[in-house]
Amino acid sequence: MPTELEDNPTSFAETALTLGGKSAEEARRTGAVDRADEQVERLFTPEHQTNRSPAHRAVWDRGVPVSEFTSTTPVVPPEVQRVMEASLAIARRHVTARTLFDSAGKVGDEVLAELAAEGYWGLLVDKDYGGSGAPFAAFAPFLGRMATIDGTVAGLASIHGCIGAVDPVQTFGTPEQRAKFLPRLASGESLSGFALTEPCAGSDLTALCTTARLEGDQYIVHGEKLFISNAALGRTVGLVCLIDERPAVLIVDLPSSESDQFQLKTYGLHALRHLHNRGLVFNGLRVPAENRLTPPRGDGLTIAYHGLNRGRVTLCANAAGSMRQLLASMIPWSKFRVTYGAAIEKRELVQRRIGELAGLIVGADSLVAWCSELLDKGYRGEMECIVAKIFGSEALKHAAIELAMKTHGGRSFLHGHPVGDNLHDFLAPCIYEGEGEMLSMSFFKSLVKQHGQTYFEPIGKTLAAAGIKNPNPLNPRHALVLARVARPYLRWQIAERLRWRTAPELPAMPAPLRRRAEFACDELQRMSREIDGTLRKFQLKLADRQCRMTELSRRCQDLIVMLCSSLYAARQSSEVVHHAAEVLGDSLRHRLANERPDNKFYRRVTQLGEAIAEGGFPGLEEIVPSEILMRY
Ligand SMILES: Cc1cc2nc3c(=O)[nH]c(=O)nc-3n(C[C@H](O)[C@H](O)[C@H](O)COP(=O)(O)OP(=O)(O)OC[C@H]3O[C@@H](n4cnc5c(N)ncnc54)[C@H](O)[C@@H]3O)c2cc1C
Repeated sequence: MPTELEDNPTSFAETALTLGGKSAEEARRTGAVDRADEQVERLFTPEHQTNRSPAHRAVWDRGVPVSEFTSTTPVVPPEVQRVMEASLAIARRHVTARTLFDSAGKVGDEVLAELAAEGYWGLLVDKDYGGSGAPFAAFAPFLGRMATIDGTVAGLASIHGCIGAVDPVQTFGTPEQRAKFLPRLASGESLSGFALTEPCAGSDLTALCTTARLEGDQYIVHGEKLFISNAALGRTVGLVCLIDERPAVLIVDLPSSESDQFQLKTYGLHALRHLHNRGLVFNGLRVPAENRLTPPRGDGLTIAYHGLNRGRVTLCANAAGSMRQLLASMIPWSKFRVTYGAAIEKRELVQRRIGELAGLIVGADSLVAWCSELLDKGYRGEMECIVAKIFGSEALKHAAIELAMKTHGGRSFLHGHPVGDNLHDFLAPCIYEGEGEMLSMSFFKSLVKQHGQTYFEPIGKTLAAAGIKNPNPLNPRHALVLARVARPYLRWQIAERLRWRTAPELPAMPAPLRRRAEFACDELQRMSREIDGTLRKFQLKLADRQCRMTELSRRCQDLIVMLCSSLYAARQSSEVVHHAAEVLGDSLRHRLANERPDNKFYRRVTQLGEAIAEGGFPGLEEIVPSEILMRY
């Protein structure tokens, strides 16, 4: 029974599950984010909303809906394939010729124009507007391939197509707005970015200050944006600002020169150094009123959340490509570097790192395939895309520092080395598009919201109305009040306790992968009772138990990664991919169960590393090998 109930009539959703603390002001502000979230939810059909999503059902339904965790190989229309291959060839040619970057070290205008001519920027734009209408399930893994050649070129397409102007205009624009913007976004005449963050508003989106005031048929914009990727004169941005005190999105064509009304703010930024990232200062810039996007429900945050989901999947794809680059740099180096009379590729520590990295790549590949297909099926995919974002960014950080940097030793820090030169790019994904632990809390919040609203909110409200602060079932008055309102919850608890383990309906798959998938399904099903216990224990104070929320969230996420990667690997023909998924599954299980790796695991992972050093790994073919520096 409840133990820490507070006398607070505010709804469970708005208070107990907020990311902030206790004050009324915080509850109000996070309540605003909650409402925006609910508005996004209503854009989707009931069967595709969060509480019917695979991640949610895996925990709360009887039996994990395995088929919804299984991805397929996307069908890529020939015209889309042509654009993709041509774009890859351009990037490859410029990387080989060392002409990708201009004198300022940014991806050069000539490269951007060549990519535009092949249709790269229009891949996600509908055919009706001059794009090639690629399914997202084809686009996302393609960006992973592009990232094996160059992460910035891949990142630019993600910014433009997912979080920049393409997705908002295509999803929320009127026919007139689509006709106005999409053809030039598709042709690359306008490249776009997404301007949400402000000096005072990063994690806290309720602190937005930039405003737009209607004057005649124009909005007058005042305010400052910070950290905006792909921000340059003449580009287009999806600007999140306040209109009549509510978040809204204006599509803003940035002027071609600075003026009193608009300036770019430059600063040194270590991450994403091959693209422009700047602040935008608006001091009365005029924007046509017709450029305001109005979603059918909700407001500017609704629009922002929609694109961010896609961006999180392509971020994971980019991470997979970058990890392949790291792997491709480790293999020749480990063959070249001889210490104590043997190449380091023969050493267990190095073999373990290579094997572990392969596991992380398969994990990221599997999440990209899974999430992008879910989005194409019409799912909102909020929780699933968060899993992909966090896994991709954390895996890349781990790969760069623990696996690649340690293997390359001192040379990692030489100018011109793939690890040292790009270290900040490998770390920054943990922060942009939502810092990982903050997102972990969002995942948890989405996971428990329905359960909390169904069972805990009525109890809380009734007790609060009866003036009972610390309910005690032994107190007859409390027991009477509780008996009335707690019945549905007690029924749920009894049903949970009587619930038989239903074996997951797994497809035909190799036994080692099946065992890992079964483990993941069993544990996901067990999470419901543990999460329920946490809700019962902390009640409205759960908002302040951030460490517990992120820990539970992290465990659910690890299990989802284990399930997805096992299912994904099972449908690949490569044995190396199977073994990589096994290694990833074991590493996740060690973390989940606080288990020490046994000798079998070390044998498995080092043999995998040895096999990859000898025979390669799928997807390394595109990579232009990096030079070995300071040869002896
Ligand atoms: C390379 C790069 C590119 C970027 N590109 C873009 C872009 O194109 N467009 C754009 O709009 N933005 C962009 N950003 C901004 C990025 O999205 C933000 O940096 C990010 O959302 C975090 O915001 P912040 O830096 O203001 O962190 P802050 O809000 O200052 O938070 C700092 C940390 O405090 C902690 N924290 C904050 N609030 C809480 C809380 N309630 N509970 C517990 N912990 C908390 C979190 O760990 C958080 O990471 C970019 C950033 C970088 C580094």
